[in-house]
Amino acid sequence: MSSLFRQPLTSLNKIGSKKAALFRKLGADSIGSLLRLYPRTYNDWSKPLRLKDAPDGTTVCIKATIQKKMTPARIRGNLMLYKLIADDGYENMEVTFFNQSYLFDQLQTGCEYLFYGIIRQDYGKYQMTSPAVENAGLSIIRPVYPQTQGLSSKQIEDAVAQSLRMLPTEINDPIPSWVLEKYNLCSLGFAIRNIHFPAGYQELTQARNRLVFEELLILQLAMARIKGGNKARTSELNRLKHDFTDQFYQLLPFSPTNAQRQAVEDCIQDMMYGASPMNRLIQGDVGSGKTAVAAAVCYTAAKNGLQCAFMAPTEILAEQHAQSLTKLLEGTGLSISLLTGSVTPSRKKLILSQLENGEIDIIVGTHALISDKVSFHHLGVVITDEQHRFGVAQRAALIAKGTDPHTLVMSATPIPRTLSLMIFGDLDLSVIDELPPGRQTVDTYLIDSSIRQRAYGFLKKHIESGRQCYIVCPLVENDETVDSDSSLHSAKEYVIQLKKSILGSFRIGLLHGKMKSAEKDQIMTDFKNGDIDILVATTVIEVGVDVPNAVIMLIENAERFGLSQLHQLRGRVGRGQYKSYCILISDNQNEMTKERLSVLCHTNNGFKIADEDLRLRGPGDFFGSRQHGLPDLKLAGNSDTNTIEMTRQAALMILQKDPDLSQKEHRGLLLEAQRLFSRIGGERLQ
Ligand code: ADP
Ligand code: MG
Repeated sequence: MSSLFRQPLTSLNKIGSKKAALFRKLGADSIGSLLRLYPRTYNDWSKPLRLKDAPDGTTVCIKATIQKKMTPARIRGNLMLYKLIADDGYENMEVTFFNQSYLFDQLQTGCEYLFYGIIRQDYGKYQMTSPAVENAGLSIIRPVYPQTQGLSSKQIEDAVAQSLRMLPTEINDPIPSWVLEKYNLCSLGFAIRNIHFPAGYQELTQARNRLVFEELLILQLAMARIKGGNKARTSELNRLKHDFTDQFYQLLPFSPTNAQRQAVEDCIQDMMYGASPMNRLIQGDVGSGKTAVAAAVCYTAAKNGLQCAFMAPTEILAEQHAQSLTKLLEGTGLSISLLTGSVTPSRKKLILSQLENGEIDIIVGTHALISDKVSFHHLGVVITDEQHRFGVAQRAALIAKGTDPHTLVMSATPIPRTLSLMIFGDLDLSVIDELPPGRQTVDTYLIDSSIRQRAYGFLKKHIESGRQCYIVCPLVENDETVDSDSSLHSAKEYVIQLKKSILGSFRIGLLHGKMKSAEKDQIMTDFKNGDIDILVATTVIEVGVDVPNAVIMLIENAERFGLSQLHQLRGRVGRGQYKSYCILISDNQNEMTKERLSVLCHTNNGFKIADEDLRLRGPGDFFGSRQHGLPDLKLAGNSDTNTIEMTRQAALMILQKDPDLSQKEHRGLLLEAQRLFSRIGGERLQ
């Protein structure tokens, strides 16, 4: 199968360079990778419903005979309307198409067809608009592919069908046969055929199980290779000789909590006495004071002569950290600098030379720190903040700039154990389970959009008394071409609507991930300085920003977010002296969703929330929401803890037999692991 990865899509019928570019957008740039572009879902054409059994507004398959085709009508310009009446033997439905003359001409009165689409019931009349249509004889499970503008699921299906014909009967399976047998997995050829065109549900399940297994297995093997150096021994150069923690505590404007002290002590112990370099994760709820712990580690390490790198996921956050460290460590003789993409070239040149000759003790920065041009005099400690925002390979690249440096990662999102084993290996854990004294809880309400106006009134009152608010939407803009769901709010559109509302006279800002970083920083600075009253944003504000005057976080389409993510967003308010609120708006009627969201109204404890999220949604959410810095998993998104454990076991067994995957029977696995590694190596920040 690996030779198919070198065969271009243009070798297929009906695919030229233009179409190939669209496929590339979906991640398919060869026959091989097209076969790995799995369907998003399936339409079941095998069980058509009777019209009277089809719930209003749902997607269904109806088998019906065309009674009558109406004369096409021109509505306006070049928009043509085609209508027909079909019956399922009991009731009639009206089917409408726009501009699909080719399809319409092919349909024949008196013949039976399958119509697949959303059924609507209007005053007892059944209607379907722009359904997919097939001959009635066809009764199968059909793939639905992820689409992009200009490329329909049907076109992808055609290309896949052609590609499958090029698949040799005997293909090299990357999974060794003893693993296939031990875990009762089907062959790769069977899996690839049935994931696209399942012979039935049982075959589909078999195919999916095998491909999920493969994905997780290869991921774990790739991770093991990235982490290769983890088991190194601590070099004497990196071993701390003296503990300066107490000195550091004198510098703090507050007294550290017991949990913070414990976390710092854990780190110092690792760095003074550990047989191998520190490899520690600090988990602490939003606002638990992880930055002070990182600062203590930097201080002690720098005082021992080690250089420290502190990497944050956004420029705003890196600047914030650099500022507070500089202030805190003023007069201690330590030198702190900031390196981000927006540092001027001349300043950058200076910083790079100072890093190289050891004049800088602590460098704070974004992923600019992992650029090839950066080299250190003696990098001894690598700290990454908000770990889940980084790709695994990015962290690895920074670590590679030192010789087995100590590493510390900080995260506000508790990660299930199995998942963290996969990402970090056997890392040690310190939990900050205590908030600094005097923190207030953020009152949280779940409402539906019918009382949005009242919520606006609430915001108005607070803004008039000098406070600021955030409003978060799930989308940047409405994309009308792909899977558009008109009930989803987009930040851009929202600003326009908000200007017409009772909040229209306030100063409204817009912040989203598609803006340039300079623009984003400007908006954030304006908000921080109080020059913006309401900041309408996407989840870009999820991470770490500190604006104590902001007191309300209003979240639209709250059902679209994971609980942990909502909790992070909520953590943006309640950071100052003012009473703060979080308002979740959702019209979702699903009982599970309501239960899930109401968890937030009852607790402010991030760990409890993550547990609930895990219980209610399964570990799939942790894969699905990319909270982990792993590459997109195509299928494993819904895998359960069992499968993760099973593949971990298999990976360990394989590595035990063949640590560097050099044996012939593991060649396929090595290739796939390398392919994945190169993909995550290229992965960028969100
Ligand atoms: P997070 O864990 O979310 O990164 P931060 O490190 O940003 O939290 O800390 C949040 C705020 O709490 C900061 O303003 C910090 O100065 C303050 N803080 C941290 N530790 C304490 C403490 N022990 N007592 C009082 N305030 C603290
Ligand atoms: Mg933080």
